[in-house]
Amino acid sequence: MLALKSLTFEELQSQLQQRGLERYRADQVVDWVYRKRVASWQAMTNLPEPLRKTLAEQFHLTPTKEVAHQLSAKDGTHKFLLQYADGQSAETVLMPMSGHDTVCISSQVGCRFACRFCMTARRGLQRNLTPDEIVQQVLHARDSATAAGINIVFMGMGEPLDNYDAVLQAVRVLTSPNLGMIGTRRITISTTGVVDRMRQLADSGLRIRLALSLNATTDDDRKRIMPVSARYSIKETLAAAEYFAQRTRHHVTLEYVLLRDINDRPEDLERLRVLGDPSRPFKLNLIPFNPDPRLRYQRPTPARVREFEKGLQGRFRSVTVRWSMGLDIDAACGQLFGKRNESAA
Ligand code: SAH
Repeated sequence: MLALKSLTFEELQSQLQQRGLERYRADQVVDWVYRKRVASWQAMTNLPEPLRKTLAEQFHLTPTKEVAHQLSAKDGTHKFLLQYADGQSAETVLMPMSGHDTVCISSQVGCRFACRFCMTARRGLQRNLTPDEIVQQVLHARDSATAAGINIVFMGMGEPLDNYDAVLQAVRVLTSPNLGMIGTRRITISTTGVVDRMRQLADSGLRIRLALSLNATTDDDRKRIMPVSARYSIKETLAAAEYFAQRTRHHVTLEYVLLRDINDRPEDLERLRVLGDPSRPFKLNLIPFNPDPRLRYQRPTPARVREFEKGLQGRFRSVTVRWSMGLDIDAACGQLFGKRNESAA
């Protein structure tokens, strides 16, 4: 069976044609699936009964169960745990923002990159998500959105560039014009820095945005907290990020998770200043670490966070502090795949 939600509009048209069906059926199906959001072929009442039956035998609609849905009383963040046909589940977060809500999606169940400060890393990689499972997260979260439009960030569970083909196909579906979902420049992929894939993505012709999790200022320090990604040096990783910016004409966001006494020292600030030559196409997001009792790191003091913010102004195209949303429901960066999954283990 084919997963309908892993097909772009054109791919769906040609799949229908190959089966001897009329092309306009694609418009009808897409209207039911992406606008009316029905979950079964039976619900598509303007399709003749025999056609519904044929389609149901050949395409599935990515049956998904919402196993948990939490809403933050503090900032209105939603967290969803979605379970797929094989019982695996992944988390999706919706953050209400002015103008556009942000949907933070997962690309894998678990992750094999072993970043020491990240909860998702603790269980290793269970499996890749398929394109339709990625698309389904967006559809599901979008139902709770209140803003007119959405942004999508691949900052949930997993390393998107470690599941490159599926992530790119999901992006093609999400940006497929006839599905009416989102434009490419509203999608950001966040990576630990898989250099070859960053270059491949730059050459892919998809004009999405890129964020790079830098998190350290020397290769040795980076190796300690990001053991897998540090097989690439900071220098070659940033060179790949610059290449991406050149090819796509989008600035690349560097993310820097601030860990107390680990990467928030005066010498780190100084090295970040040097690295952030203002002629380079980089923006900087400082993310104060989201603590968890099972991780041995701590968040820096607010004063230290401000020192970094102030000290780096003018060295990057912009400097922003991202105080995570959804802390009260374990929906913040690095917290997904947290309590529920570990207690079940
Ligand atoms: N694998 C990708 C995307 C998922 S993580 C990546 O690493 O970029 C998204 C962001 O959350 C990354 O910048 C990561 O460094 C950050 N992060 C992970 N754990 C965190 C934590 N406990 N507190 C704050 N940020 C965290």
